[in-house]
Amino acid sequence: MNTTELSIEFFPPQTAEGAEKLRTVHARLAELKPAFFSVTYGAGGSTRERTFATVKEIAASGSEAAPHLSCIGSTRDSIRAILQEYADAGIRRIVALRGDLPSGVGDAGEFRYANELVEFIRNETGKRFRIEVAAYPEWHPQARCPQDDLLAFKRKADAGADSAITQYFYNIDAYLHFVDSARAMGVTIPIVPGIMPIASFSKLARFSDACGTELPRWMRKKFEAYGDDAESIRAFGLDVVTSLCEKLLATGVPGLHFYSMNQAGLTTEICKRLKLA
Ligand code: FAD
Repeated sequence: MNTTELSIEFFPPQTAEGAEKLRTVHARLAELKPAFFSVTYGAGGSTRERTFATVKEIAASGSEAAPHLSCIGSTRDSIRAILQEYADAGIRRIVALRGDLPSGVGDAGEFRYANELVEFIRNETGKRFRIEVAAYPEWHPQARCPQDDLLAFKRKADAGADSAITQYFYNIDAYLHFVDSARAMGVTIPIVPGIMPIASFSKLARFSDACGTELPRWMRKKFEAYGDDAESIRAFGLDVVTSLCEKLLATGVPGLHFYSMNQAGLTTEICKRLKLA
């Protein structure tokens, strides 16, 4: 029996066509029976309405939906109002984040770090929501040093987070080391690896630079050699990510969280190869 808990991430679509496409993608991915679908939240609340609309639609279709909620640039009152909206809509799980302010936006608001948001959610709503937080096996790009980043992660667990989802990575040792280090500090919450299927190498390279994920040289060189050959990139990407997931599953990870990028094909194919479909 398959006991690995899957979760799948979407971003809120910007257009009516995007929303229609996401309905089809969600229906396909729902066949994988994930524990929940999460929906990202734009910096400073820029997608507040669209995140809410997407979450409500997913929940109405019978899947569990978990909104991401970032606190940077927000007031306590505005976060309180959002929590109330989600509670009224029957939502039971939230991915609590600090987020990043868009450049040029000066006002950081009333929260500085995600642990303050976790504490606020717990104080305001008790055990109403299951709270997920972010973790960074290759360290958050702004962290002063690995030890500080681990302490920041521990503060989120101590504030009441139930579980964590990691930034994506392709170096399994980084994840295993992070989990060992967190356990050595007394952090016991599940740390679910975030998995990024590879559709386009150039996009992945740009994104990885920004979020601090290392693309191993052996992978990078091979992808670069494929040039514009989208079929080879897809095939190699599927092999790489499936193999990473196989190794992670062999270590007994509590689940896999797929960054689907609102596409069904790669996530479905990887799960099929892993016999999780
Ligand atoms: P924090 O845990 O607050 O950490 C941020 C930085 O501050 C780290 O470098 C940490 O070491 C440091 N820090 C923490 N506490 C202290 C302290 N007391 N003193 C000094 N330094 C401290 N972004 C979005 O905008 N929308 C999303 O929907 C979204 N979803 C995400 C989902 C996942 C699973 C992940 C991994 C990331 C997601 N992000 C999202 C990106 C995230 O918002 C950014 O990485 C952001 O920069 C950090 O958010 P955090 O919640 O990890 O912050």
